[in-house]
Amino acid sequence: MSDSSFSRRTFLGTAGAVVAGTALAPRSAIAAPAIVLRPPSHPVAVASANGLRGVARAVEMVLKGGDTLDAAVEGVKIQELDPNDDSVGYGGLPNEEGTVQLDASCMHGPTRRAGAVGALEGIKTPSEVARLVLKYTNHIMLVGRDAQRFAMSYGFKLEDLLTPESREKWLQWRANRGSNDDYLDVPATEKMAIRPTGTVNMNVVAPNGDISSVTTTSGLAWKIPGRVGDSPIVGAGQYTDNDIGAAGSTGRGESNIMVCGGFLTVEHMRRGMHPKDAALETLKRVVAMTPPRLLRPDGKPSFGLQFYAVNKKGEYGAASIFRARFAVADQKGARVEDTAVLFA
Ligand code: ASP
Repeated sequence: MSDSSFSRRTFLGTAGAVVAGTALAPRSAIAAPAIVLRPPSHPVAVASANGLRGVARAVEMVLKGGDTLDAAVEGVKIQELDPNDDSVGYGGLPNEEGTVQLDASCMHGPTRRAGAVGALEGIKTPSEVARLVLKYTNHIMLVGRDAQRFAMSYGFKLEDLLTPESREKWLQWRANRGSNDDYLDVPATEKMAIRPTGTVNMNVVAPNGDISSVTTTSGLAWKIPGRVGDSPIVGAGQYTDNDIGAAGSTGRGESNIMVCGGFLTVEHMRRGMHPKDAALETLKRVVAMTPPRLLRPDGKPSFGLQFYAVNKKGEYGAASIFRARFAVADQKGARVEDTAVLFA
């Protein structure tokens, strides 16, 4: 479902305010951001590496006058609808009972609004449902069965989100889960040896200075039913401040929630840090907050976590605890680059 009425209204409603100054008058009296950043001449979109096609789509949409949130949602929908991306939407790996439960959140910088859904079942594109929460309600997050009913009231159809491949991976996991159960162990594919993770986060800045962010995921594979990760938590999975920039995350959600990483990264940028350095700084806080049970014998975390960020000037960057890649699109086109790393 595209949402062009939203695009047009927000675009027309906010462009003037951005050109005229750093913020709307009443807010600047209270918040008074110290930094005035000049927007880029070309849209910039930064995302997790699986968002490569998405960043290209998002930039293309903004170039045609589209709103940054609509562009980001259209970008991440490519992964949500792709049966071969087993970390997001349709084809995402299920919880321990074999049910796919999806999380998503978004923020629209110019209107300073947010929307989110948690543990949503049967809807392929939770990013669109999060945007509906943002657009049509006085709330920020809806969860579970009621989030599903909310989506259905806007015309979404319930669908089986398991693909033959994702069901097979779950069946393999269940069979190999323990040696004392009544399932016989079966040979597992190489990928299944490590617990699969994944998510898509995307952050978009437009030449008019508007910024938005979206994160969407099927969460941790084989999670306890009802577990909600960082992706739908505004301030953790993603965060936008239209005066400063946007940031979001993929990787071990619980570790991100503990530092409110999306928000913290934007706050580091507010203090003048480059997006890459802001993301690295947030990861340092993550490590400082990591309990011993999640540290390896060498003292490094036993999990992966990445942050992706863009500022209002269009400067971008990403950082990861260990080596990783991220996607970016700007005037030079769409490409994948290496993240900065905390540990080589
Ligand atoms: N951040 C996601 C979660 O914890 C998972 C991931 O990105 O791998 O739900």
